Amino acid sequence: MGKMKFDDSLGKPDLSRAMLGRIAGYFLPYWKQALAVLAVLSATSVLGLLPPLLIQRIVDHALPEKNLRLLVYLVGASLGATVASGLLGVLQNYLNAYISQSIVYDMKNQMYRHLQSMPLQFYTSVKQGEVITRMTSDISGIQGVFSGTIVNFASNLLMLVTTAGTLFWMNWKLALVSLFVVPLFVAPTRKMGSVRWKIAKETQEKISDQNHIIEETLSLSGYMLMKLFTREGRERSRFMTANAETTALQIRESMAGRWFMMLVSTFASIGPMLIYLYGGYLFIQGDISVGAIIAFVALLGRLYAPVGQLTNLYVDIKRSVALFQRIFDYFDMEPKIADAPDAVSGTLAGGSIEFRNVGFSYQPDKPALQGISFKAEPGTMTALVGPSGAGKTTITNLIPRLYDADSGQITIGGKDIRNLTLHSLRSGIGLVTQDTYLFNGTIRENLMYASEDASEEDLIRACQAAYIHEFIMGLPEGYETVVGNRGIKLSGGEKQRISIARVLLKNPPVIILDEATSSLDTASEFFVQQAMNVLLQDKTSIVIAHRLSTIMSADRILVVKDGQIAEQGRHEELLTQNGVYKDLYDKQFGRQAVQRTHAKEEEGSPT
Ligand code: ADP
Repeated sequence: MGKMKFDDSLGKPDLSRAMLGRIAGYFLPYWKQALAVLAVLSATSVLGLLPPLLIQRIVDHALPEKNLRLLVYLVGASLGATVASGLLGVLQNYLNAYISQSIVYDMKNQMYRHLQSMPLQFYTSVKQGEVITRMTSDISGIQGVFSGTIVNFASNLLMLVTTAGTLFWMNWKLALVSLFVVPLFVAPTRKMGSVRWKIAKETQEKISDQNHIIEETLSLSGYMLMKLFTREGRERSRFMTANAETTALQIRESMAGRWFMMLVSTFASIGPMLIYLYGGYLFIQGDISVGAIIAFVALLGRLYAPVGQLTNLYVDIKRSVALFQRIFDYFDMEPKIADAPDAVSGTLAGGSIEFRNVGFSYQPDKPALQGISFKAEPGTMTALVGPSGAGKTTITNLIPRLYDADSGQITIGGKDIRNLTLHSLRSGIGLVTQDTYLFNGTIRENLMYASEDASEEDLIRACQAAYIHEFIMGLPEGYETVVGNRGIKLSGGEKQRISIARVLLKNPPVIILDEATSSLDTASEFFVQQAMNVLLQDKTSIVIAHRLSTIMSADRILVVKDGQIAEQGRHEELLTQNGVYKDLYDKQFGRQAVQRTHAKEEEGSPT
């Protein structure tokens, strides 16, 4: 799994051309709207210059000349400029929201599709809750990149350039003086930015830890584990510690740089003082008007604010790129199991399943399967037996390509399963595992997952065959009963029978069944077994066998040991070999055989 990175650390942001190009790719479809934003921003930055310049005319002309008409006209124009820039602001907000939300929309869809195509291996390794974090908070963070970073940059730059230009045009000497204080607040602002970035990064990590605790302990199985081992106190204090750390960091974050801010605003107020001083001198010299001094001071804010903002831009860019990077890390994980370019669809019906020298490992250097070869003829039952951890489940997982074999070949009907489309392969296989998954909906919804257009009769027929119809009808709400998370409101046997009914509705030619019924009581085991027998009729089946009757009636038994097939054949053949199977049979199934004989005797004896 070389390419897969499952950690969620915030690496160093990669500001390479390729990365920026990739980010830009997401904005490309919205270039027209982005251009409109730029136009609006240019207009607002010019409009913003007007009021100070109009004030200059008021002070220098309207007032000394006692010209009421001019005064009203100038005030009106100033008001008009302010209103116009307000209206443009609304338009800009709309465009911002449109662009950012559209990008989030595109990314979410792309991410969902990508995650759907990730192999099972990904979901067995990824930290619980991480997928949700990526899908929600990370991608949602992207919307801030446009409306925050990019628009901020453009609007500040425009404001800075237009204001500086105007100041120089009005009086270059005064303009130079006003620039004099700029370096004084660049340094503190930079410092503040980097401190905040560091704290923000730490905060994000802590929040993710905290979410992890929540997901671990407040999910169904986590909750049960915590309760049954009475770990509430410990978990509570673990949570409280994480929570306290996050809170402390968040307070630090909002306080970070407040001292610098104070310095910055002090420095910023030095600017106007210098203008009054030097501008006053120029006025006395007869170089400049009073109105110009007032306009200058009014424009200073439009000069200093963008300088401050732009100083922090680097931090913003780093933050934005890091965000994109976290998402790209996910996109870059190759879905390992996908349709081959030349994959064809086909049916599995009537084809034999053949393993040819198949090898597989979950981890490097630890083979789970080696040299597995066997053939399951159509319509026959192949039983897998062997100690726990031998590799039986792994063999069954390779058939629907939940994992891909590392070496060797698996064919169905002579076709390599890798040349079949995943859709046709998986629609041909019904999998009944020990761990029955029902989602939190009604029984009907859970059943219909197998076949959207199943009729009421199909549904009932499947449930009757799975020995569960009567149970369902006995529930107050029948098929409309809600089963709870993972089907918690049903017993193990009921869940298994519903999942068997679901596979019956799907009606695939190949059945893979883990018949472990050890968690069931005798009565429900009886029903589950009956249901399983119906399920396997006329199918090609691979069964992880736990019952004597299964192995006795199996057409072929594979004895799996340490990832290899130790022996294969029919029950009687294997028994006479006096090998691994005989040993296993005596230990695991011998007792069942004795019990069965007893049961038969009891049945037979008159009471
Ligand atoms: P069986 O079904 O015969 O009990 P499995 O096929 O489940 O055995 O497991 C075979 C071996 O592979 C075991 O050693 C098990 O620990 C290992 N294994 C199973 N699933 C995984 C996994 N997702 N990641 C790593 N190792 C696994």
